[in-house]
Amino acid sequence: MQIFIDLDNTLFDTVQLGLDTASLLQKTYDIPPEIYEQARQEMFADNNKIYSAKLHAEYIGQKTEVPNNFVDIFLDLFRNEDSEKYVFDGVFDFIAECSKLGTVRILTYGEEFVQRPRSLKSGIAKVVSDVIVTQDNKADTIKEYFGNDVPKETIVLIDDSVEHLDDIQHAFPDSLTIHIDHGGSHNRENGSHTYAQSFDEIEALLLEKST
Ligand SMILES: [Mg+2]
Repeated sequence: MQIFIDLDNTLFDTVQLGLDTASLLQKTYDIPPEIYEQARQEMFADNNKIYSAKLHAEYIGQKTEVPNNFVDIFLDLFRNEDSEKYVFDGVFDFIAECSKLGTVRILTYGEEFVQRPRSLKSGIAKVVSDVIVTQDNKADTIKEYFGNDVPKETIVLIDDSVEHLDDIQHAFPDSLTIHIDHGGSHNRENGSHTYAQSFDEIEALLLEKST
């Protein structure tokens, strides 16, 4: 199996990091958390759904009063991010189990500047075969990654984004697309992907698929 795993909100609790960042900005610079969130959503929509820390900072600055060097302050939060703390429980055991069944790589959408250090400082990069950061469609990225030589083994994508799972399913009809839903906020019966709420559930699915 060629197992690709998403980073944000799949292995890494990006939602919690966002909440902590917002509350830190409120305490330190009096920036309301609602402004942080509004700016994030608008930036995301305007920027083709790619999170840009720099743009996020600029959008916050357009909505409320911020220090002169706010973009640098904001970017520093990512440079100093305590990434280890936000890895979901059970991730390292899960990756170890996946590695017995196939080649495991991180396939994450976003900015190099944010995603690369996040995967390194969290310790996740050390336990996988490769970390691929992309701003392209994930299916195109996999094709490009393998050149013209996509392995015959089953391609697996574990992701919290239905959109990214759809792309993979489309491009690789024999793939196994697993929708991880940590919060349990999606309907289990909805959609065309295999649904899971925990790493244990996914482990069992992969074991079944590999035998
Ligand atoms: Mg994600």
